[in-house]
This record gives sequence, structure tokens and C-alpha cells, in this order.
Amino acid sequence: MTASARVGLIGLGAMGGPMARLLLEAGHPLAVCDAQPAAVEPLAALGAIGCASPREVADAAEIVLASLPAPDVVRLVALGEDGVVHGGAIRTFVDLSTTGATTAEEVAAKLAEHGIDYVDAPVSGGVAGLEARTLAVMASGERAAFERVRPLFDLFAANVFWVGEGPGQGQTAKLLNNLLSATAMAITSEALAVGVRAGLDPATLLDVFNAGSGRNTATSDKFPKHVLTRAFGSGFRLRLMTKDVRLALAEGDRRHVSMPVGEAVQDVWTRAATQAGDADDHTEIARFYEEWSG
Ligand code: NAD
Repeated sequence: MTASARVGLIGLGAMGGPMARLLLEAGHPLAVCDAQPAAVEPLAALGAIGCASPREVADAAEIVLASLPAPDVVRLVALGEDGVVHGGAIRTFVDLSTTGATTAEEVAAKLAEHGIDYVDAPVSGGVAGLEARTLAVMASGERAAFERVRPLFDLFAANVFWVGEGPGQGQTAKLLNNLLSATAMAITSEALAVGVRAGLDPATLLDVFNAGSGRNTATSDKFPKHVLTRAFGSGFRLRLMTKDVRLALAEGDRRHVSMPVGEAVQDVWTRAATQAGDADDHTEIARFYEEWSG
């Protein structure tokens, strides 16, 4: 693919917005759309073409990326009345969202009926990883389609994995990754609540864990940066993490694997999500533990 190839991007939130800027910086003419006009304006000011619907984006670009919040939104954007499936130019649809394997399978099958390739390519590493261009991408789909779009992943990822031919296999890899990350965040919140109750200093406790065998992404990264500082600004919303845990459990159910630890983790995130605001960051799970433990 050349840098002059026009690309489409649907969903310009915490992840999609900065991705759009990287695509423009790399010289790609870009067509974008978002349900919120305010998300489109800053990109239009940088030269992107603002479109009124996913279909319009797919009329303008052969490769269309999506970074959307939930499975039903991806279905609507891909297959709805104004979905990319009806676009005149699109040849490949790339889903960067975390939306689960069953959605990926359904969307891939319907797009294939219209001659459109589907690559699911969820990402890990968050807004910080995107800004540092060190994201991990776990993609699946037909190998040739993956190779066609891979140069785009290289704009924001340091590690690009092709995990298999099957649509949804990338989604499964991502969900399992986030289940581990959600577990680390929840159990670290729990451990610190006990430690603080016992009179220990949280910063010292984290130093102990990070020098010991309890080290994980919450102890080494999220707690020092976002919890102890009270910034709670990782850029990944609590409700999105709750969605990912739910999707991971659904995958376990579909594969007939019992997940008792996963179920406990899901309970905790669901409880927090019912008390959280829509914009609350996922690192605020620690704040809920503080409330629950008094
Ligand atoms: P976000 O909520 O910040 O952004 C989603 C965007 O999609 C919003 O701008 C919203 O207006 C737009 N949107 C919603 N419905 C739409 C529709 N029908 N048509 C067009 N646009 C629509 O979410 P995010 O944090 O950018 O995450 C996007 C996806 O990436 C999610 O699936 C999330 O799980 C995944 N993800 C996020 C992070 C992170 O750190 N934020 C990391 C890895 C993966």
C-alpha cells in the first residue's frame, strides 16, 4: 500500500482520534465519521474528509478501519442500512475495536457475501501505547488481507501478531489479554485495601510487590501512574473494561470452559460499573474498593 492510498476510519474516540492523526501525518488521505460531530471537527481541520455515515466513508476508501465501543455498534456500522457493506469503494474492513469473536464471525460472513474482506485487529497498550506507537495488534483473517493492511498497523504498533485465519481469533486473543489485565487491576485493588487497613503505606507496598513475585501490570504501571497520583487518566473507560470481561466470559461459555476466577472478576467489574459514571476511567476500580472497604 502506498502512503497516498485513501483510508477510512469510523469511531474517533480515545483510540480512534489519535489513530486518525497518525494516518494523516503519514500522508494518507483520510475519510472519517463519528456519531459525535465534535469528534470529527478537529480532524477535518487537519485535512480529513468528514463523512455523514459509515457508508459514505466506504464510498470514499478501499480500506476502512473502525474503533468502536461495543459489539452492537460494530454490527450497525458494518451491516446496518448506512453501513460500510453498502459502500462502493471498500474492499477491506478492519475492526480495531474489542467486540468479541461472535460479532467478528457474523460481520466477516456478511461482508464476504459482498466481496469485502474482514480483518479483526484489536489492540492493546492503551492511549499511552498509541501515543508512543508501541501498541500490540492481534489480528486474524485471511493472510493476504492482513498483509495488505499491515503497513497501517505499523504506524502505531511495535508488535503486530497475526494469530490465525479464523475471523474472531484476534478478538479472542485480545479478550483473554484483557481478562488477565482486569484480574490484575481488581486483585491489586483488593490487596492494597487490605494492606492500607493493616496500616501499611500503599507506595511502599507497591515497591514490595514490584520487587517480588506479585508484580503485574497494575502494580508496575497503573497504580503508580493513575491511582496513587489520583489522576485516574489511563484513557480506557471502566465500562469498556467491564464489557471486555463480559465478552471473555461469554467466550469461555461458548468453548465449554469453566471460569470460576473469571466469574468472580466479572462480579467485581459489574458492581463497579453500576456505580460508575460513563466517563470514569477503569483505574477507578481502586476507588470503588476504597469505598467498599470503608
Ligand atoms: P471511546 O468511547 O473513547 O470512542 C468510541 C467512539 O465511537 C466515540 O467517539 C463515539 O462517539 C463513536 N461512536 C459510537 N457509536 C458510533 C456510531 N454508531 N457510528 C460512529 N461512531 C460511533 O472508546 P475508545 O477508548 O476509543 O475504545 C474504542 C475501542 O477500542 C473499544 O472497543 C475499546 O474496548 C478498545 N480499546 C480501547 C483502549 C483504550 O485504552 N481506550 C485500548 C485497547 C482497546
